[in-house]
Amino acid sequence: MGDKANMARTDAIVLGAGIVGTSVALHLARRGMSVALVDRAGVGEQTSFGNAGIIEANTVFPPSFPSDPAALLRIALKRASEANYELSFLPRIAPWLMAFRAASRRSRLIENAHLIRPLFGSAVSEHETLMAESGATRYLRKTGWLKVYRTESSFAALRRELDLAAGFGLSFETLDTAGARALEPSLNPIFPRAVFWPQAASISNPLGLTRAYAARFGALGGVTLTGDARSLHRAGRRWRVETDEGALDAREVVVALGPWARDLLDPLGLKLPLAVKRGYHRHFKAQGDAALSRPVLDAVPGYVITPMEMGFRITTGVEFAPRDAAPTPVQFARVVPRARELFPLDGRADNKTWLGARPCFPDSRPVIGPAPGLPGLWLAIGHAHWGLTLGPVTGRMLAEMMAGETPFCDPAPYRAERFL
Ligand SMILES: Cc1cc2nc3c(=O)[nH]c(=O)nc-3n(C[C@H](O)[C@H](O)[C@H](O)COP(=O)(O)OP(=O)(O)OC[C@H]3O[C@@H](n4cnc5c(N)ncnc54)[C@H](O)[C@@H]3O)c2cc1C
Repeated sequence: MGDKANMARTDAIVLGAGIVGTSVALHLARRGMSVALVDRAGVGEQTSFGNAGIIEANTVFPPSFPSDPAALLRIALKRASEANYELSFLPRIAPWLMAFRAASRRSRLIENAHLIRPLFGSAVSEHETLMAESGATRYLRKTGWLKVYRTESSFAALRRELDLAAGFGLSFETLDTAGARALEPSLNPIFPRAVFWPQAASISNPLGLTRAYAARFGALGGVTLTGDARSLHRAGRRWRVETDEGALDAREVVVALGPWARDLLDPLGLKLPLAVKRGYHRHFKAQGDAALSRPVLDAVPGYVITPMEMGFRITTGVEFAPRDAAPTPVQFARVVPRARELFPLDGRADNKTWLGARPCFPDSRPVIGPAPGLPGLWLAIGHAHWGLTLGPVTGRMLAEMMAGETPFCDPAPYRAERFL
């Protein structure tokens, strides 16, 4: 921790200490700026705590609105394991869903794949840089990730995505059952097809990782404070936020509040179409010496199983419900029996069910850059299914923009103005 006595004024305040805000704060501190990281909870304890731990360097298409009528009907009838929804919420989220559907058209997906590639292409190396200086390399597994397909048709549907991945120069191996089991011998042979993505990496403890980045930020002189971001207001030519240590002023403020960003931005008059896709996790033990060396996606039921320090973490697909509504973890009833078919899960490793909310724009791209009409305010929000992946790369790009340097890639696709 830095010297709190001088903290009435800093160069920059970062609001939100998830993986995104912490990475931004660390990158700013690395440039010699005095920075305060403000959160109302502990570092990394919210959305960044519970994800599937994948650094998805291979991402081509985002999860999209289903185009297959059978899949849509399954979801509508609440029989799908990959998605759930709260009926009374649908009218409220309908405009967002329509925009999401429009962004899921083939041509838009291909355009988006090109726009997001530079961020994903640097995701693993940017994590490695921060991990090396934060002493966090022990959390990193550079073992790729494996996606298994229970039907030939679900595998055949990948064709365009694989063609595009090949065009981007991404490595992947299409495998049969034996090939996949050579990588993961504990998987049961219930699937004919798999794809191995060797350039992806994964994390064995996402909370430990964010905390390690925050500790490095502290070692560089950064200060982490408790405070409510909604207290942010103009104080002359600066911004001011109230913290437990008193009022704090800065010319530059970064909003990295993940799914809570609109709590701050809406009252400031900046209305962006940020919605949430909720998701859950539970931890399990494995039978005998069954093990996994990497995350595994079971594509059609739509869940991921990741070996974590706390056990085998099963993360669910999406749920459309209000961000703060009570948990409705019904997807586990469908997903866990399917997971047991694939991998010899034993009982629960703990008795907790975690609920998080992926902060998503309809085009699945984050917003990284200046807040329109609010001088000195910067945005690092909407990282959707990939906030863990993109935290450090976002931190680098935003810090470069704030320091007046040339960003390592064109920031235009991430501007908030695309929604205004
Ligand atoms: C089930 C699931 C699986 C996932 N799997 C992956 C994966 O494998 N790989 C991947 O890359 N991504 C994954 N994600 C997505 C990823 O977890 C998120 O995109 C990422 O955590 C978002 O980070 P963030 O820093 O923007 O938000 P957060 O981690 O939520 O941080 C926001 C911070 O703002 C703080 N805050 C909110 N309101 C206030 C306030 N008023 N005042 C002060 N502080 C406030 C919160 O306390 C919080 O600490 C997954 C998400 C889910 C839900």
